[in-house]
Amino acid sequence: MKCKICGSANISQVIDLGKQPFANKYPRNKFEIFKEKKFNLKIFFCKRCKASQIKRIVNRKILFEDYYYLSSVNKKLKEHFENLSFKLKKYNFVVDIGSNDGILLEPLKKLKISSIGIDPSKNVGKIANDRGLKTFIGFFDNRMIKKILKEYQKPDLIVASSVVTHLKNPILFSKNIKEFIKKNGTLIIEIEYLQNFLKNVEYERFYFDRPFYYSANSIKELFKNVQMKLYDIERIDVHGGSLRFYIKNSLDCKITKRCEKILNNEKQTLNLNTFKLFNKKIYQHSKYLKDQLIRFKRRNKIVIGYGCPARVSTITNFSKINSDLIKYIIDDSPLKQNRFTPGMHIKILPRKNNLSNINVVMVFAYEYFKDIKKIFKNKKVIFFKPIPFTKLL
Ligand SMILES: [Zn+2]
Repeated sequence: MKCKICGSANISQVIDLGKQPFANKYPRNKFEIFKEKKFNLKIFFCKRCKASQIKRIVNRKILFEDYYYLSSVNKKLKEHFENLSFKLKKYNFVVDIGSNDGILLEPLKKLKISSIGIDPSKNVGKIANDRGLKTFIGFFDNRMIKKILKEYQKPDLIVASSVVTHLKNPILFSKNIKEFIKKNGTLIIEIEYLQNFLKNVEYERFYFDRPFYYSANSIKELFKNVQMKLYDIERIDVHGGSLRFYIKNSLDCKITKRCEKILNNEKQTLNLNTFKLFNKKIYQHSKYLKDQLIRFKRRNKIVIGYGCPARVSTITNFSKINSDLIKYIIDDSPLKQNRFTPGMHIKILPRKNNLSNINVVMVFAYEYFKDIKKIFKNKKVIFFKPIPFTKLL
């Protein structure tokens, strides 16, 4: 196996998360549970570009045409994209790849910045179009580029937030960007940062939807190959600590100090040893989580979960946690309600009528804990982050 970002053969398996289902497929009923498939989830690390990747890349069509994640449900994420939109005032035409329900297109429209979105999910893309936020439904590929360029000019800014991690073929993506973007145009990429997963023991961020876990060095390599230059990196506060990369369609620009610093830091700290240590912690923390849940059960405590993002699947399937230990999970997205979690089949319910007689809340959507805590005001419950198992106050 070769690295699908830089082509190096210097690649080794570093994590084995066992048999896992698709983390964003929430079965509706017994029949869909019966049809559910599981595959081995193994993570590899490339010593050259310092990225991680999954060997098995599941057909993107199966995963994304029918999707259940609505960005705009998350207040914090909405704020994040509003803030980003203010930075984009100087651009003439913005294309948002993976625009979801129009979470960035909406504030751009308010600022009168010309913009369109591209999203593969028919159901989510329709929501955006119905709200008057122009969204092309389909994957970002050659055909899509031709279709857009028939009606629009080349964009001087492309945004790809939480997208590159989901790609099947990053090299092809970089070539397509090069073809699509205006000369001297800017590409903004946002990713959840691998270094942060490792630091915070967030193995739950690995699942089949996302075959690639980038380092700053791997982003630099990927776009260097198409004569584009990574020149700045911002640390941002979404998805438990992410990076925002600025890449210019020109080799003629200066690299910022903070960009250089992150690139150099990876060279020193991101290696096989980091993963060895991480792997050990995964087992320790998962066992501890399960032991705690068993303890609650013995003491007749009612435990529920709050928030059902994809990570619920990775954690519960790896730690073998089912509805014996977590009675149900509340999620505010109507698309997930009254379905089951992938693999372990814990019921997902709406907030309404399901907040009484609870002792313990496992906060899976821990980024939104402040908001979640408010929902339970006047109720005597204790909150925990599942991995690493931590009491939340
Ligand atoms: Zn590589």
